[in-house]
Amino acid sequence: MSNDNFVESTKTLKKTVPLMIKHKVPTTPTNYALWYTYAKQQLPILNQAIDQGIAELGLCTPTLCDTLYQEHLASQTDKDMAQLKQSLTAMVQEISHSMADTLSDTEDFQGVLTKTFGKLETAEQDGLSLEETMKLVRELVRESRQIHTSTGTFKGQLSSTQQEISALRQALIESQKEANEDALTGILNRRAFDRDFQNYIQNNVPLSLILLDIDRFKSFNDNYGHLLGDQVLKIVARRLKESCRDYAQAYRFGGEEFVLILPHKMKSSARQQAETLRRTLEKISVLDKKSGQRINSVTASFGVAERQENEPGESMINRADAFMNQAKKLGRNRVLPLT
Ligand code: GH3
Ligand code: MG
Ligand code: MG
Repeated sequence: MSNDNFVESTKTLKKTVPLMIKHKVPTTPTNYALWYTYAKQQLPILNQAIDQGIAELGLCTPTLCDTLYQEHLASQTDKDMAQLKQSLTAMVQEISHSMADTLSDTEDFQGVLTKTFGKLETAEQDGLSLEETMKLVRELVRESRQIHTSTGTFKGQLSSTQQEISALRQALIESQKEANEDALTGILNRRAFDRDFQNYIQNNVPLSLILLDIDRFKSFNDNYGHLLGDQVLKIVARRLKESCRDYAQAYRFGGEEFVLILPHKMKSSARQQAETLRRTLEKISVLDKKSGQRINSVTASFGVAERQENEPGESMINRADAFMNQAKKLGRNRVLPLT
C-alpha cells in the first residue's frame, strides 16, 4: 500500500469513528465498512440515503444500516473488503505510531512491526478474507499488549485504538452468532426487534407498534399439518414485509406472533395500516395437497399502541399485547383499539 493511501485512509478513519458515535451506530464490521464509505464520500447515492434516513428518522437504525450495507456495499465485496482492510491497516498504523513514541527503544517492537506489516501487505495482495485480516490485527494487538505491559507505560491514544479494534473483533464474533433474520420466514427476528425498538426508545423517536397473532393456529396445525402451518407463517411474513413503507419494519415476534414498528406514525395511521393488513391476511389462500382443498381461513388479531411521552418500551408492548388479547376475546380477526 502506498503512503498516499495510508494518509488518505487514516484521514477517513478519523472521520468514520466519530460519525458512528454521533449517530449511535454499533461498531460492527459491516457498519464500519458502511460508515467508512460514507466518510470517504465515495458513493453519493449512499450518502444521500444515509442523510435522508437520518433526516427523516432522527438516527440511523441498525436495520437501516444493514439494509444500506446490503444495497450499496454487499454487492461490491471486493472493493469493500479492500477499503475495510485499508482502514484496519490504518488503525494498525496508528497503533504503531503510538508504540513508536512510547517504546522506540524496545527491541522487540521493531520485530513485531516488521512482521505484522509484512503480513498485512500480503493480505492486500493475496485478497485475504475479512476474518483473516482481523486475525492479523488481533495478533498485532496481542503482541503490542505484551510489549506494552513490559514497559509499564500507557498511552491514551493506543488504548482507544486498541479498544476500537477489540470492539470490532467482539462485534465480528457476535455478528457471526447473531443473525438478525428469522430462519423460517426470512423477515427480521425478535433479536432485531429488541435492538431496533430499544434504539428508537433510547433516542425518543415517536412511533407506533402493531402486534398481531394468528387466530386459532394450533388447530390449523392440527387440521392441516405443521408444514402447511409453516407455509402460512411464510406468506403472512411476506405480506407484512410488503406492507412496510416509510422506514417501517416487520419482525417475527415469536411463534405465530408478529410485530411492526412504525416510526413517526400516530395511532390513527397505525390502526389504518393494521386494518389493511387484517384484510390482506384474510385473503390468503393455501392449497392442502392431501385433500386438494383450498384453505381460506387464515385470520389474525391485532393490537395497536402509540408511544406516550417518555413511555418505556416495555409498557408500550404490554399495551399492544393487551389490545391484541382483547381482540381475541371479542371474536378474533379484528383490530383494537377501535379509535
Ligand atoms: P389464538 O387464536 O388464541 O391465538 O389461538 P392459537 O391456537 O393461535 O394460540 P396458541 O398460543 O394456543 O397456539 C399457537 C400455535 O402456534 C401453537 C404452535 O404449534 C403454533 N406455532 C408456533 N410456532 C410455529 C411454527 O414455527 N410453525 C408452525 N407450523 N406452527 C407454529
Ligand atoms: Mg400466540
Ligand atoms: Mg394465535
